[in-house]
Amino acid sequence: MGRIIIEYLEGQKIYACKKCNVHLSKSNYLFSKQFTGTSGTAFLFDKGVNYLTGKPEEKRLRTGLHTTQNIICIKCQTYLGWKYLYAYEQSEKYKEGKIILEKLFLSKIKWN
Ligand SMILES: [Zn+2]
Repeated sequence: MGRIIIEYLEGQKIYACKKCNVHLSKSNYLFSKQFTGTSGTAFLFDKGVNYLTGKPEEKRLRTGLHTTQNIICIKCQTYLGWKYLYAYEQSEKYKEGKIILEKLFLSKIKWN
């Protein structure tokens, strides 16, 4: 195993791992706050950094069948959410490539 390389984001509002504070995404990448994860409220982001993905699996969500990968923190390996690889429903195609991060596992860093 190589050394873990951690990326740092710049921006007004950064979303980080609640446990280890590694940066995960930022408000500029936030697509929607109207999602539900396994723990409750979840956010959909266009992209993020410092996460690892698990193996692809079929997941039946309220909006239909999707192929997803679980997302864990690169540093502390905490479960954070999932990535959408493929959406079977035409109306859900916009999610492909985007990531879900569950609010419970996030902390917000705000620079003012
Ligand atoms: Zn972490």
